[in-house]
Amino acid sequence: MRILLATRSRHKADEIRRILAGVEALEVITLDEAGVPEAPEEETIEAFETFEENALAKARYFHERTGLATLADDSGIAVDALGGAPGVRSKRFAPARGLSGQARDDENNRYLLERLEGISPEDRTARYVCVAVLVEPGGTVRVFRGEAPGIIVPGSRGDGGFGYDPFFYDLELGRTFAEITPEEKNARSHRGKAFRALALALEQPGAGAVSSSSPQGSGS
Ligand code: IMP
Repeated sequence: MRILLATRSRHKADEIRRILAGVEALEVITLDEAGVPEAPEEETIEAFETFEENALAKARYFHERTGLATLADDSGIAVDALGGAPGVRSKRFAPARGLSGQARDDENNRYLLERLEGISPEDRTARYVCVAVLVEPGGTVRVFRGEAPGIIVPGSRGDGGFGYDPFFYDLELGRTFAEITPEEKNARSHRGKAFRALALALEQPGAGAVSSSSPQGSGS
């Protein structure tokens, strides 16, 4: 089976490829590898209030452009003391505009710490969320959700991972997601959980399938 992975993030593509590496007879190709040119409207696809709707919109958009079975994910961090923010707005959390890549990640992290100033360690609980959606030719939609709990620490720790990882501390491991190996991160992360559920379902046709346009989460 050949699946188009609808992301332009190298970090995400690397993580997802590692997680799906064990699935037999599965070929995962990225947008760039499939020669799908970047279009300005891609920036506006994820305009919804839930991870499920955003991932579905992205998977449908690229499925319609290519005709290929398409896998998309939407992910982010939900911080309890901020009422679940930034959530679906994680990528563009900080008010500063015009930044990209590492500069955007740095500014998001700076802003997150600013918003959490004065909040005690036990109230800095958070969770990463990932929803993966597969749209297959014929229109079948499969939805998988994964979550990873942690707390936000006040100082950067480690240089692995990406995004909020240097500040996302896994209490069971006693390290941030930037201080662990890619394998350890995949074993614990929201993305690992969602995509392992997907990998299992690929071996059991029909699992995780929903046919409506407002998907229900499944997986762990
Ligand atoms: P999107 O899923 O591409 O819309 O972006 C999600 C945003 O959430 C990223 O830009 C990061 O800021 C954050 N995020 C999602 N997953 C992770 C992760 O595994 N580590 C660090 N940050 C993440």
